[in-house]
Amino acid sequence: MKKLIGVDLGGTTVKFAILTAEGEVQQKWSIKTDIKNEGKNIFPDIVKSINHRLEIYGLSADDFSGIGMGSPGSVNIDKGTVIGAYNLNWRTLQPVKEQIEAGTGISFYIDNDANVAALGEQWKGAGEGSGNVVFVTLGTGVGGGIIAEGNLVHGVCAAGEIGHINVDPTGYECTCGNVGCLETVASATGIVRIARDLSEEYAGDSKLKYLIDDGQEVTAKTVFDQAKTGDQLAEIVVDKFYFYLGLACSNIANVLHPETIVIGGGVSAAGEMLISGVEKYFKKYAFPQIKTSTKLRLAQLGNDAGVIGAASLVNISR
Ligand code: ZN
Repeated sequence: MKKLIGVDLGGTTVKFAILTAEGEVQQKWSIKTDIKNEGKNIFPDIVKSINHRLEIYGLSADDFSGIGMGSPGSVNIDKGTVIGAYNLNWRTLQPVKEQIEAGTGISFYIDNDANVAALGEQWKGAGEGSGNVVFVTLGTGVGGGIIAEGNLVHGVCAAGEIGHINVDPTGYECTCGNVGCLETVASATGIVRIARDLSEEYAGDSKLKYLIDDGQEVTAKTVFDQAKTGDQLAEIVVDKFYFYLGLACSNIANVLHPETIVIGGGVSAAGEMLISGVEKYFKKYAFPQIKTSTKLRLAQLGNDAGVIGAASLVNISR
């Protein structure tokens, strides 16, 4: 059986893996993403790194059925191009497939980074091979990917923008130009924003309020850590976050009836407490048959979801 290569292209690092056709990771490595010069070094660096590794491991292009990649920006999966990946300094159209295939001699497949992470968790992580999985990633922003009846859902092209589900039409302004998107309240920055606003009005005794008023660095982790110790303000903040995410998950589930909603990204480090908190509101708002059968679970693959899901593009696209 031929092997797969998975590539997870990010703004700071490019992660690579060589996998078996069944998705077992055999080798992993990474390089820094060089975004200088309008990101023009990114293709040559990726090609060089892949070719160098194949040489080290005594492998050639013939040993692989393909390379799959997850990329930020707007991805055209048919043409294999990317545009508007601002964290890579890719403002203009990038012929990714053409360049990587020419440099490596291996067939190339691409999709956006949240979609490939969803595929990774579905294939080898918390989705356990189910054909109906929704992946929500809570990081600096909120991203998502949807696998419905065995297929990654693209719609016309941009399906799965879970971060821009509206959870409060009178809420905070979002980077997309709208107000009240899930991302404004459920991302790492969103949680801190809620904490700062509620802290303004909070009159009781609270370590979280003290840290904010004292000008110390407060992150989403600080908020969850304080909530774990029973800080009342932190508990109110976290509960608000649970409400927004639970509401969004119930709306997604009512449309798609997934078997599992997988929650990943940096914020999910809060652990099982996050799942049970979100579940409370999910069960409140989801349709009866759905709330008893759709499971909420923490992502399992961490940083590997991207390379594993990217590699799976080769299997599903061929
Ligand atoms: Zn938005």
